[in-house]
Amino acid sequence: MILEYHQIAEPEGRWARTPADFRRDLERLWERGYRLVSLTDLLNGTFTLPRGTSPVVLTFDDSSPGQFRYLERSGRIEIDPDSAVGILEAFALAHPEFGLHATFYVLPGAAQPHRLFCQPEHEARKLQYLVSRGFGIGNHTLWHANLSKYPERTVRKQLAQSQQWIQGLVPGYRLRTLALPMGAYPKELEWAIRGDVEGVTYQHDAILMVAGGAAPSPFSRRFDAYRLPRIQAMESELTHWLRYFEQRPEERFVSDGDPATVTIPKGRRAEMRELSGRDLRIIELD
Ligand SMILES: [Zn+2]
Repeated sequence: MILEYHQIAEPEGRWARTPADFRRDLERLWERGYRLVSLTDLLNGTFTLPRGTSPVVLTFDDSSPGQFRYLERSGRIEIDPDSAVGILEAFALAHPEFGLHATFYVLPGAAQPHRLFCQPEHEARKLQYLVSRGFGIGNHTLWHANLSKYPERTVRKQLAQSQQWIQGLVPGYRLRTLALPMGAYPKELEWAIRGDVEGVTYQHDAILMVAGGAAPSPFSRRFDAYRLPRIQAMESELTHWLRYFEQRPEERFVSDGDPATVTIPKGRRAEMRELSGRDLRIIELD
C-alpha cells in the first residue's frame, strides 16, 4: 500500500486526518505487521524487512501546515508534536522497528497555506531537515498545475521550476518522483518523465497517481513505476484495505526476511518481471 495523506488537521474531513487519527493509523499498521519503507526501496525492491512483515509507504501531498510545523517555545524552535513529522518521529522512537520513512510532495510556488508548509521563515530549514532525516521530497509541480490542461512547454516548466526551487533551498537535491496533481497525466507521458528547461533538468523514476488501490509488488509484471496507484488515507479507505488484506492474506506482500531472495507461491513465476542488474534468488513455496 502507498498511502496518500493531505492535511493533518482538525476537524476530520475528506482531505484532513486529525493528529489523533493519524497516530491511530500508525498504530493500526504497526499492530498488523506493516513496516514503513521508502519509495526508493519500493522502486528498487531493496527493502530489508523482518520475515513476516509487510511494507507500507507514506506520502503527503500539498505541503500544508499540519504536515510539518515548527513551534517557538521559550525562545527555542521545536517540531510541533501534533504535526505529521512530529507524530512520525515520536512513533518511531517508541517503535524503532516500525521505521521512519515518508515522501513529501511539496508545492514551492503555491499560494499559502500550501507553500512549503506555510512558515516562510523556516522553508529551507524544514526541507533540509527532512532530507537529513532520510525523508523524501517529491515533485508535485510548482503550484499544483493540472498537467492535462497545458501544452508541453508549460508542463515542462512546472516540473523543472519546482526542481530548481527545491535545489535553491537544498543544494544538489534531486526530486526522484512525481505525484500528479489531481492524478492528471499530461498529453504525452514523456513530458512528465524527463526534461530540460533552460538548463534545469528533471528526471522522475516514478509517477504516482491519486487513487487506484494497492500497488503491485515491485517484483511483479504488473508493477509500472510510471503508474503507481495510491490509497487515500481516510477512515473508510484505510479500514477497507486493512480488512481486504486480512481477508486475502495470499494477496498481501509478506517479506521472507532475506533481501537477496524473493519467495513466491509455486507456479506463479511467470508473473514476475525481469529486474536488470539484480542477482535475486527465487524460492517457490508449495
Ligand atoms: Zn495535491
